[in-house]
Amino acid sequence: MNSMELTKKNIIKTLEKISFSGETDNIVSSGVLQNVQVFGDQVDIGLLVSNPALQARKRLEVDIMKIIHSDIYEKAKIKITCKVENKAKNPESSDSSSSSESSDTNITSQAKKISGVDSIIAVSSAKGGVGKSTITVNLAASLAKKGCKVGILDADIYGPSVPTMMDVEGYVPKAVKINDVSKIEPAESYGVKIMSIGFFTKLDQAVVWRGPMASKALNQMIFDTNWGDLDFLFLDLPPGTGDIHLSLVQALPINGAIIVSTPQNVALADARRGIKMFQQDSISVPIIGLIENMAYFQADESDEKNYIFGEAGVKYLSKDLNIEFLGEVPIYKSLREASDFGRPASLQESTDVSKVFDNISKSVVEQLLKRNKDLPPTKVVEITNLVGCSAIKK
Ligand code: ADP
Repeated sequence: MNSMELTKKNIIKTLEKISFSGETDNIVSSGVLQNVQVFGDQVDIGLLVSNPALQARKRLEVDIMKIIHSDIYEKAKIKITCKVENKAKNPESSDSSSSSESSDTNITSQAKKISGVDSIIAVSSAKGGVGKSTITVNLAASLAKKGCKVGILDADIYGPSVPTMMDVEGYVPKAVKINDVSKIEPAESYGVKIMSIGFFTKLDQAVVWRGPMASKALNQMIFDTNWGDLDFLFLDLPPGTGDIHLSLVQALPINGAIIVSTPQNVALADARRGIKMFQQDSISVPIIGLIENMAYFQADESDEKNYIFGEAGVKYLSKDLNIEFLGEVPIYKSLREASDFGRPASLQESTDVSKVFDNISKSVVEQLLKRNKDLPPTKVVEITNLVGCSAIKK
Protein backbone atom coordinates (compact mmCIF):
# COMPACT_ATOMS: atom_id res chain seq x y z
CA MET A 1 0.00 0.00 0.00
CA ASN A 2 1.39 3.43 -0.90
CA SER A 3 1.60 5.73 2.04
CA MET A 4 3.59 8.74 0.86
CA GLU A 5 3.32 11.45 -1.73
CA LEU A 6 5.69 11.20 -4.72
CA THR A 7 8.01 14.06 -3.83
CA LYS A 8 11.75 14.54 -4.06
CA LYS A 9 11.99 14.68 -0.27
CA ASN A 10 10.12 11.40 0.23
CA ILE A 11 12.17 9.68 -2.46
CA ILE A 12 15.45 10.71 -0.85
CA LYS A 13 14.19 9.61 2.57
CA THR A 14 13.14 6.24 1.17
CA LEU A 15 16.40 5.70 -0.68
CA GLU A 16 18.27 6.07 2.60
CA LYS A 17 17.21 2.47 3.22
CA ILE A 18 19.37 1.21 0.35
CA SER A 19 23.12 0.81 0.05
CA PHE A 20 25.26 0.02 -2.97
CA SER A 21 26.99 -3.33 -3.25
CA GLY A 22 30.02 -3.53 -0.95
CA GLU A 23 29.33 -0.24 0.86
CA THR A 24 28.09 0.20 4.40
CA ASP A 25 26.71 3.73 3.99
CA ASN A 26 23.35 4.20 2.33
CA ILE A 27 23.30 5.61 -1.21
CA VAL A 28 22.24 9.06 -0.01
CA SER A 29 24.96 9.61 2.57
CA SER A 30 27.65 7.96 0.42
CA GLY A 31 26.91 10.33 -2.45
CA VAL A 32 25.86 7.59 -4.91
CA LEU A 33 22.55 9.39 -5.29
CA GLN A 34 23.42 12.51 -7.25
CA ASN A 35 20.16 13.82 -8.51
CA VAL A 36 16.40 13.36 -8.13
CA GLN A 37 13.80 15.12 -10.25
CA VAL A 38 10.07 14.61 -10.12
CA PHE A 39 7.70 15.67 -12.90
CA GLY A 40 4.15 14.50 -12.09
CA ASP A 41 4.37 10.71 -11.90
CA GLN A 42 7.78 10.68 -13.56
CA VAL A 43 10.97 10.36 -11.55
CA ASP A 44 14.47 10.93 -12.94
CA ILE A 45 17.28 9.62 -10.77
CA GLY A 46 20.99 10.17 -11.35
CA LEU A 47 23.55 7.86 -9.72
CA LEU A 48 27.33 7.95 -9.54
CA VAL A 49 29.00 4.69 -8.51
CA SER A 50 32.59 3.61 -8.10
CA ASN A 51 32.02 -0.09 -8.72
CA PRO A 52 31.78 -0.60 -12.49
CA ALA A 53 30.31 -4.14 -12.26
CA LEU A 54 27.20 -4.17 -14.39
CA GLN A 55 25.45 -6.71 -12.17
CA ALA A 56 25.91 -4.51 -9.10
CA ARG A 57 24.53 -1.48 -10.91
CA LYS A 58 21.55 -3.36 -12.27
CA ARG A 59 20.81 -4.74 -8.80
CA LEU A 60 20.90 -1.23 -7.36
CA GLU A 61 18.58 0.09 -10.05
CA VAL A 62 16.09 -2.71 -9.44
CA ASP A 63 16.23 -2.09 -5.67
CA ILE A 64 15.54 1.62 -6.21
CA MET A 65 12.57 0.96 -8.48
CA LYS A 66 11.14 -1.66 -6.14
CA ILE A 67 11.32 0.49 -3.03
CA ILE A 68 9.80 3.56 -4.71
CA HIS A 69 7.00 1.45 -6.17
CA SER A 70 6.29 -0.34 -2.88
CA ASP A 71 6.79 2.49 -0.37
CA ILE A 72 5.71 5.58 -2.28
CA TYR A 73 3.78 5.16 -5.54
CA GLU A 74 3.35 1.91 -7.42
CA LYS A 75 2.77 3.58 -10.81
CA ALA A 76 5.74 5.94 -10.68
CA LYS A 77 7.62 5.98 -14.00
CA ILE A 78 11.23 5.84 -12.99
CA LYS A 79 14.21 6.64 -15.16
CA ILE A 80 17.64 5.93 -13.71
CA THR A 81 20.90 7.11 -15.18
CA CYS A 82 23.98 5.55 -13.66
CA LYS A 83 27.47 6.87 -14.22
CA VAL A 84 30.68 5.19 -13.14
CA GLU A 85 33.42 7.22 -11.51
CA ASN A 86 36.84 7.21 -13.25
CA LYS A 87 35.22 7.48 -16.60
CA ALA A 88 35.97 4.79 -19.11
CA LYS A 89 37.34 5.93 -22.48
CA ASN A 90 34.00 5.59 -24.17
CA PRO A 91 31.44 7.36 -21.97
CA GLU A 92 28.66 5.24 -23.41
CA SER A 93 30.13 2.10 -22.01
CA SER A 94 30.22 3.59 -18.53
CA ASP A 95 26.63 4.69 -18.48
CA SER A 96 23.55 2.65 -18.08
CA SER A 97 19.98 3.51 -17.64
CA SER A 98 16.83 1.75 -16.64
CA SER A 99 13.29 2.68 -16.93
CA SER A 100 9.95 1.44 -15.76
CA GLU A 101 8.39 2.45 -19.08
CA SER A 102 9.22 2.22 -22.74
CA SER A 103 12.36 4.20 -23.53
CA ASP A 104 10.82 5.53 -26.75
CA THR A 105 8.33 7.71 -24.94
CA ASN A 106 10.52 8.57 -22.05
CA ILE A 107 11.86 11.97 -21.11
CA THR A 108 15.35 11.04 -20.23
CA SER A 109 18.41 12.70 -18.85
CA GLN A 110 20.66 10.46 -20.92
CA ALA A 111 21.67 11.18 -24.49
CA LYS A 112 19.39 9.43 -26.93
CA LYS A 113 19.39 9.56 -30.72
CA ILE A 114 16.40 11.20 -32.39
CA SER A 115 15.12 8.80 -34.98
CA GLY A 116 15.80 10.05 -38.52
CA VAL A 117 18.05 12.96 -37.46
CA ASP A 118 21.66 12.71 -38.59
CA SER A 119 23.36 15.68 -36.94
CA ILE A 120 22.34 17.94 -34.11
CA ILE A 121 24.06 21.30 -33.96
CA ALA A 122 23.55 23.56 -30.95
CA VAL A 123 23.81 27.29 -31.59
CA SER A 124 24.70 29.07 -28.41
CA SER A 125 25.67 32.45 -27.07
CA ALA A 126 26.39 33.23 -23.48
CA LYS A 127 24.82 36.65 -23.98
CA GLY A 128 21.40 37.62 -25.29
CA GLY A 129 20.92 39.85 -28.34
CA VAL A 130 24.18 38.99 -30.10
CA GLY A 131 22.36 37.44 -33.07
CA LYS A 132 22.18 33.76 -32.17
CA SER A 133 18.70 33.27 -33.67
CA THR A 134 19.56 35.35 -36.73
CA ILE A 135 22.57 33.13 -37.38
CA THR A 136 20.56 29.94 -36.73
CA VAL A 137 17.75 30.70 -39.18
CA ASN A 138 20.11 31.96 -41.87
CA LEU A 139 22.41 28.93 -41.63
CA ALA A 140 19.40 26.60 -41.68
CA ALA A 141 17.86 28.35 -44.69
CA SER A 142 21.20 28.46 -46.49
CA LEU A 143 21.64 24.68 -46.09
CA ALA A 144 18.02 24.00 -47.09
CA LYS A 145 18.63 26.09 -50.22
CA LYS A 146 21.54 23.75 -51.04
CA GLY A 147 19.29 20.70 -50.85
CA CYS A 148 19.88 19.60 -47.26
CA LYS A 149 17.03 18.45 -45.05
CA VAL A 150 17.07 20.85 -42.14
CA GLY A 151 15.11 21.49 -38.95
CA ILE A 152 15.26 24.12 -36.21
CA LEU A 153 14.27 23.62 -32.62
CA ASP A 154 13.82 27.04 -31.06
CA ALA A 155 14.56 26.41 -27.41
CA ASP A 156 15.00 30.05 -26.46
CA ILE A 157 12.46 30.23 -23.67
CA TYR A 158 13.34 33.85 -22.91
CA GLY A 159 12.63 35.17 -26.38
CA PRO A 160 11.58 32.66 -29.03
CA SER A 161 12.14 34.70 -32.20
CA VAL A 162 12.45 31.91 -34.79
CA PRO A 163 8.68 31.92 -35.60
CA THR A 164 8.90 35.61 -36.57
CA MET A 165 12.16 35.21 -38.50
CA MET A 166 10.77 32.21 -40.43
CA ASP A 167 7.28 33.65 -40.89
CA VAL A 168 5.42 30.97 -38.95
CA GLU A 169 4.16 33.11 -36.08
CA GLY A 170 0.86 31.85 -34.72
CA TYR A 171 1.38 28.29 -35.99
CA VAL A 172 -0.61 25.84 -33.91
CA PRO A 173 1.11 22.44 -33.73
CA LYS A 174 -1.18 19.50 -34.46
CA ALA A 175 -0.91 15.91 -33.30
CA VAL A 176 -0.29 13.24 -35.93
CA LYS A 177 0.01 9.46 -35.69
CA ILE A 178 3.21 8.04 -37.10
CA ASN A 179 3.29 4.22 -36.98
CA ASP A 180 0.67 4.36 -34.24
CA VAL A 181 2.81 6.72 -32.15
CA SER A 182 1.46 10.17 -31.42
CA LYS A 183 3.76 12.94 -32.69
CA ILE A 184 3.59 16.73 -33.05
CA GLU A 185 3.69 18.10 -36.59
CA PRO A 186 6.31 20.86 -36.92
CA ALA A 187 5.76 24.02 -38.95
CA GLU A 188 7.57 24.15 -42.29
CA SER A 189 8.85 27.27 -43.98
CA TYR A 190 11.36 27.72 -46.82
CA GLY A 191 11.94 23.96 -46.69
CA VAL A 192 12.95 24.06 -42.98
CA LYS A 193 11.00 22.19 -40.31
CA ILE A 194 10.45 24.30 -37.24
CA MET A 195 9.39 23.61 -33.69
CA SER A 196 9.41 26.48 -31.24
CA ILE A 197 8.62 26.99 -27.62
CA GLY A 198 6.93 30.12 -29.01
CA PHE A 199 4.16 27.93 -30.51
CA PHE A 200 3.09 27.06 -26.98
CA THR A 201 3.23 30.49 -25.41
CA LYS A 202 2.44 34.06 -26.40
CA LEU A 203 5.44 35.57 -28.17
CA ASP A 204 5.24 38.82 -26.25
CA GLN A 205 5.38 37.05 -22.89
CA ALA A 206 8.72 36.09 -21.42
CA VAL A 207 8.46 32.49 -20.37
CA VAL A 208 9.34 32.38 -16.73
CA TRP A 209 9.20 28.65 -16.30
CA ARG A 210 11.21 26.99 -13.66
CA GLY A 211 14.21 25.04 -14.98
CA PRO A 212 12.79 21.49 -14.69
CA MET A 213 9.49 22.52 -16.26
CA ALA A 214 11.19 24.15 -19.21
CA SER A 215 13.56 21.19 -19.60
CA LYS A 216 10.64 18.79 -19.61
CA ALA A 217 8.75 20.80 -22.22
CA LEU A 218 11.84 21.08 -24.41
CA ASN A 219 12.60 17.37 -24.15
CA GLN A 220 9.06 16.61 -25.23
CA MET A 221 9.33 19.02 -28.14
CA ILE A 222 12.57 17.41 -29.26
CA PHE A 223 11.54 13.79 -29.01
CA ASP A 224 7.85 14.04 -29.86
CA THR A 225 8.16 16.18 -32.99
CA ASN A 226 7.68 14.46 -36.32
CA TRP A 227 11.02 15.60 -37.76
CA GLY A 228 11.08 12.94 -40.46
CA ASP A 229 14.52 12.51 -42.03
CA LEU A 230 16.87 15.41 -41.34
CA ASP A 231 20.49 16.00 -42.25
CA PHE A 232 20.78 18.76 -39.65
CA LEU A 233 18.75 19.79 -36.66
CA PHE A 234 19.77 23.21 -35.32
CA LEU A 235 19.05 23.93 -31.68
CA ASP A 236 18.63 27.61 -30.92
CA LEU A 237 19.54 27.54 -27.23
CA PRO A 238 18.52 30.18 -24.70
CA PRO A 239 21.34 32.63 -23.93
CA GLY A 240 23.51 31.84 -20.92
CA THR A 241 24.84 28.72 -19.28
CA GLY A 242 22.08 27.61 -16.96
CA ASP A 243 20.32 24.40 -15.93
CA ILE A 244 18.32 24.24 -19.14
CA HIS A 245 21.51 24.08 -21.18
CA LEU A 246 22.89 21.35 -19.00
CA SER A 247 19.81 19.20 -19.25
CA LEU A 248 19.44 19.78 -22.99
CA VAL A 249 23.00 19.08 -23.92
CA GLN A 250 23.10 16.03 -21.69
CA ALA A 251 19.81 14.70 -23.03
CA LEU A 252 20.79 14.95 -26.68
CA PRO A 253 23.57 13.41 -28.72
CA ILE A 254 24.73 16.80 -29.94
CA ASN A 255 27.40 16.54 -32.63
CA GLY A 256 28.77 19.96 -32.01
CA ALA A 257 28.11 23.48 -30.85
CA ILE A 258 28.51 26.78 -32.64
CA ILE A 259 29.22 29.76 -30.43
CA VAL A 260 28.03 33.16 -31.60
CA SER A 261 29.48 36.34 -30.17
CA THR A 262 30.03 39.96 -31.06
CA PRO A 263 33.65 41.19 -30.87
CA GLN A 264 32.89 43.31 -27.81
CA ASN A 265 34.97 42.52 -24.71
CA VAL A 266 32.01 41.88 -22.40
CA ALA A 267 30.51 39.49 -24.94
CA LEU A 268 33.83 37.68 -25.37
CA ALA A 269 34.17 37.08 -21.63
CA ASP A 270 30.72 35.48 -21.66
CA ALA A 271 31.59 33.47 -24.76
CA ARG A 272 34.61 31.98 -22.96
CA ARG A 273 32.27 30.86 -20.18
CA GLY A 274 29.88 29.30 -22.71
CA ILE A 275 32.74 27.43 -24.38
CA LYS A 276 33.89 26.09 -21.01
CA MET A 277 30.40 24.77 -20.34
CA PHE A 278 30.42 22.68 -23.51
CA GLN A 279 33.95 21.46 -22.87
CA GLN A 280 33.49 20.36 -19.27
CA ASP A 281 33.83 16.63 -18.66
CA SER A 282 30.20 15.87 -17.92
CA ILE A 283 29.11 17.49 -21.17
CA SER A 284 31.95 17.04 -23.68
CA VAL A 285 30.19 18.54 -26.67
CA PRO A 286 32.80 19.45 -29.30
CA ILE A 287 32.79 23.06 -30.43
CA ILE A 288 32.47 23.16 -34.21
CA GLY A 289 33.59 26.76 -34.23
CA LEU A 290 32.96 30.40 -33.43
CA ILE A 291 31.05 32.97 -35.47
CA GLU A 292 31.62 36.69 -35.09
CA ASN A 293 28.39 38.59 -35.56
CA MET A 294 28.07 42.34 -36.01
CA ALA A 295 31.74 42.31 -36.99
CA TYR A 296 31.62 45.79 -38.56
CA PHE A 297 29.39 48.20 -40.41
CA GLN A 298 29.94 49.60 -43.85
CA ALA A 299 27.41 52.05 -45.26
CA ASP A 300 28.42 51.03 -48.76
CA GLU A 301 31.23 49.11 -50.37
CA SER A 302 33.49 52.10 -50.94
CA ASP A 303 33.22 53.14 -47.28
CA GLU A 304 35.71 52.23 -44.59
CA LYS A 305 34.71 49.40 -42.29
CA ASN A 306 33.46 50.73 -38.99
CA TYR A 307 34.27 48.32 -36.15
CA ILE A 308 31.46 49.38 -33.86
CA PHE A 309 31.97 46.59 -31.29
CA GLY A 310 35.75 46.34 -31.64
CA GLU A 311 37.85 44.63 -34.26
CA ALA A 312 38.27 40.85 -34.71
CA GLY A 313 37.72 39.96 -31.03
CA VAL A 314 36.14 36.59 -31.85
CA LYS A 315 38.88 35.76 -34.33
CA TYR A 316 41.47 36.35 -31.60
CA LEU A 317 39.45 34.31 -29.13
CA SER A 318 39.32 31.37 -31.52
CA LYS A 319 43.10 31.57 -31.99
CA ASP A 320 43.64 31.77 -28.25
CA LEU A 321 41.46 28.74 -27.56
CA ASN A 322 42.48 26.85 -30.68
CA ILE A 323 38.90 26.61 -31.90
CA GLU A 324 37.91 26.96 -35.53
CA PHE A 325 36.77 30.41 -36.71
CA LEU A 326 33.76 29.83 -38.97
CA GLY A 327 33.37 33.35 -40.25
CA GLU A 328 32.16 36.86 -39.62
CA VAL A 329 28.81 38.49 -40.31
CA PRO A 330 28.87 42.29 -40.68
CA ILE A 331 26.00 44.49 -39.58
CA TYR A 332 23.57 44.63 -42.48
CA LYS A 333 20.38 46.64 -42.47
CA SER A 334 18.98 44.14 -44.98
CA LEU A 335 19.67 41.25 -42.59
CA ARG A 336 17.70 42.92 -39.81
CA GLU A 337 14.90 43.82 -42.22
CA ALA A 338 14.72 40.30 -43.64
CA SER A 339 14.52 38.86 -40.10
CA ASP A 340 11.69 41.20 -39.17
CA PHE A 341 9.90 40.44 -42.45
CA GLY A 342 10.17 36.70 -41.91
CA ARG A 343 12.32 35.68 -44.88
CA PRO A 344 15.95 34.79 -44.06
CA ALA A 345 18.37 36.98 -45.98
CA SER A 346 20.50 33.93 -46.82
CA LEU A 347 17.77 32.93 -49.31
CA GLN A 348 18.46 35.99 -51.46
CA GLU A 349 20.18 35.43 -54.79
CA SER A 350 23.89 36.33 -54.69
CA THR A 351 23.72 39.31 -52.37
CA ASP A 352 26.59 40.18 -50.01
CA VAL A 353 24.67 38.85 -47.06
CA SER A 354 23.63 35.57 -48.72
CA LYS A 355 27.24 34.98 -49.82
CA VAL A 356 28.39 35.42 -46.21
CA PHE A 357 25.98 32.72 -45.05
CA ASP A 358 26.78 30.42 -47.97
CA ASN A 359 30.43 30.51 -46.92
CA ILE A 360 29.74 30.06 -43.21
CA SER A 361 27.32 27.17 -43.77
CA LYS A 362 29.94 25.48 -45.93
CA SER A 363 32.52 25.90 -43.13
CA VAL A 364 30.04 24.51 -40.61
CA VAL A 365 29.52 21.36 -42.67
CA GLU A 366 33.26 20.94 -43.32
CA GLN A 367 34.04 21.25 -39.62
CA LEU A 368 31.24 18.88 -38.72
CA LEU A 369 32.56 16.24 -41.10
CA LYS A 370 36.07 16.79 -39.78
CA ARG A 371 34.83 16.49 -36.22
CA ASN A 372 33.08 13.20 -37.01
CA LYS A 373 36.21 11.85 -38.68
CA ASP A 374 38.66 12.97 -36.00
CA LEU A 375 36.71 12.28 -32.83
CA PRO A 376 35.24 8.98 -31.72
CA PRO A 377 31.49 8.61 -31.96
CA THR A 378 30.90 8.71 -28.24
CA LYS A 379 27.54 10.10 -27.30
CA VAL A 380 27.12 11.71 -30.66
CA VAL A 381 25.52 10.34 -33.76
CA GLU A 382 27.62 10.02 -36.88
CA ILE A 383 26.67 11.62 -40.15
CA THR A 384 25.69 8.68 -42.30
CA ASN A 385 23.43 9.76 -45.04
CA LEU A 386 23.42 13.18 -46.60
CA VAL A 387 21.81 12.37 -49.91
CA GLY A 388 20.93 15.42 -51.99
CA CYS A 389 22.87 17.81 -49.82
CA SER A 390 25.23 19.52 -52.22
CA ALA A 391 26.85 21.58 -49.45
CA ILE A 392 28.52 18.39 -48.31
CA LYS A 393 29.45 16.99 -51.66
CA LYS A 394 31.59 19.98 -52.57
P1 ADP B 1 19.74 36.59 -30.00
O1 ADP B 1 19.12 35.35 -30.60
O2 ADP B 1 21.19 36.41 -29.72
O3 ADP B 1 18.98 37.13 -28.83
P2 ADP B 1 18.79 37.93 -32.39
O4 ADP B 1 19.20 37.01 -33.46
O5 ADP B 1 17.36 37.92 -31.98
O6 ADP B 1 19.71 37.76 -31.10
O7 ADP B 1 19.24 39.39 -32.84
C1 ADP B 1 18.92 40.55 -32.11
C2 ADP B 1 18.57 41.67 -33.07
O8 ADP B 1 19.71 42.05 -33.81
C3 ADP B 1 17.50 41.28 -34.09
O9 ADP B 1 16.67 42.39 -34.30
C4 ADP B 1 18.30 40.98 -35.36
O10 ADP B 1 17.54 41.24 -36.54
C5 ADP B 1 19.46 41.94 -35.23
N1 ADP B 1 20.70 41.44 -35.81
C6 ADP B 1 21.38 40.34 -35.49
N2 ADP B 1 22.50 40.21 -36.22
C7 ADP B 1 22.52 41.27 -37.07
C8 ADP B 1 23.41 41.73 -38.09
N3 ADP B 1 24.54 41.06 -38.38
N4 ADP B 1 23.08 42.85 -38.77
C9 ADP B 1 21.97 43.55 -38.48
N5 ADP B 1 21.10 43.20 -37.53
C10 ADP B 1 21.36 42.06 -36.82
